[in-house]
Amino acid sequence: MPLPKTESVNLTSLWGGSLPFTAADGLPVLMYHKVADYPQGAPVKSHYVAPALFRTHLSFLWRNDYRAVDGTGVLGCTQGEVPAVGRPLAITFDDGYDCLYHEAFPVLQEFGFPAIVFVVSGRIGGVNDWELHHTMVFESMLTRPHIVEMARAGIEIGSHGMAHEHLLRLSDGKLRAALRDSKAALEDLTGRRVTALSYPFGEHDERVRAAAAEAGYTSGYSTQRGVNRAGTDPFLLKRINVRRYAYLPLFSRKLRLAYLMSPSPLRP
Ligand SMILES: [Zn+2]
Repeated sequence: MPLPKTESVNLTSLWGGSLPFTAADGLPVLMYHKVADYPQGAPVKSHYVAPALFRTHLSFLWRNDYRAVDGTGVLGCTQGEVPAVGRPLAITFDDGYDCLYHEAFPVLQEFGFPAIVFVVSGRIGGVNDWELHHTMVFESMLTRPHIVEMARAGIEIGSHGMAHEHLLRLSDGKLRAALRDSKAALEDLTGRRVTALSYPFGEHDERVRAAAAEAGYTSGYSTQRGVNRAGTDPFLLKRINVRRYAYLPLFSRKLRLAYLMSPSPLRP
């Protein structure tokens, strides 16, 4: 499918208006899965964002004065700190697919954007076997050396469980172990503290969030849509799901809608 020629079209006419938002309006967190071309036979198409489209997203954000922050920046935003960048946003990737190293990492570096990659600790160097029920195409997950290299280059590594568990279904003991062990494994690997958790399948409740805090996480990324700002519960961080068909008009509309879905108390 041809990509829009972003440099030659009138972007204003495409997205139907500007993005008149500032840091005071909140901090959007983008959620990606795979940055790769869609392989024939993969039933869950929506998770694949083509590499060229990913670059188009970052280019669009850059030209609109968006600058990415890391997990500390996201946490600071929930505590009322305004990052000293243009329009702040964060970029996250769930699951930790191998394609991120080859396709997303170089583009992030080119723009100087940090990001958070949520890794399934027990599947490093393996495959996405938790999708067994609905896929016949297994994807390779990031390897240990690639994770280390990305972490050294400023990519934050967060946890996405040991085995992409349904956290809601686990006993208290198994829940504690999954949260604690995945964190420890990633800290051992990268030599850095792991404080961000993305809830596998987006599943969480009060018990899960409390267990996450107890295990030493300081933030939990959900799949609920919206933007984050001062007073947002750091264990209920909102995100914007970026899918395969997020060409620029849709991408900018998603961004705009996220702000509008969580109106700022500062702007009546
Ligand atoms: Zn996941």
